[in-house]
Amino acid sequence: MEPVILIVEDEEKLARFIELELVHEGYVVKKAADGRSALDLALSEDFDLILLDIMLPELNGLEVLRRLHNEKQTPVILLTARDSVMDKVSGLDAGAVDYITKPFAIEELLARIRVALKFRHAQTAAEESAAADAASRSGTLSWGSLVLDEKGRKVTYGGQEIVLTNREFLMLRILLENRDIVLSRDTLLDRVCGYDYIGETNIVDVYIRHLRTKIDEAFGVRMIQTVRGAGYVIRGE
Ligand code: CA
Repeated sequence: MEPVILIVEDEEKLARFIELELVHEGYVVKKAADGRSALDLALSEDFDLILLDIMLPELNGLEVLRRLHNEKQTPVILLTARDSVMDKVSGLDAGAVDYITKPFAIEELLARIRVALKFRHAQTAAEESAAADAASRSGTLSWGSLVLDEKGRKVTYGGQEIVLTNREFLMLRILLENRDIVLSRDTLLDRVCGYDYIGETNIVDVYIRHLRTKIDEAFGVRMIQTVRGAGYVIRGE
């Protein structure tokens, strides 16, 4: 998966220039031109990195950073104007991983992006293995009030048992083990039915529908999400 980077910059030419360079490097890029839409986007989607200008309309970059980090720890590199020492200090205090002063050489920005992403990658891997360790020690996976007990082969919501078929159980387990990772129909099909399965691929959708009926609808939650054209994912909680 290519890293996804959000560029927040109200100077259109500069934003466009950075975008072209990043796309050329193989990154996936989104842009926002004011603080408010940047914050909305950063909260509703998961970016690997955000390049955040400080002087922005609507909401300045430092305020965006502060509000964003109240919710989630997406790494941020600040784009600052020359000589704004206070901005740099406040930015780093507010949790930015780095800053770069305008005007900058694109090579320098690219180098800092690589460092930030490498750090991000190491951090995510460490968090994931810690989470996997904790899960395998306890033998359970959970999402909110939902608990999947692998050893007991039992699923409960708020203590109330949910009866699942073997394949529904397996599908739920795979989705929970890969939380926040979108799994394609093909991947789910291989893992639930085996690589040699030759039936209908929409069997995956059928199991998903069953799980939604038994969990999402029964308990009024929104656990299993459809990502159009990509597959299914369980996020958050
Ligand atoms: Ca600006």
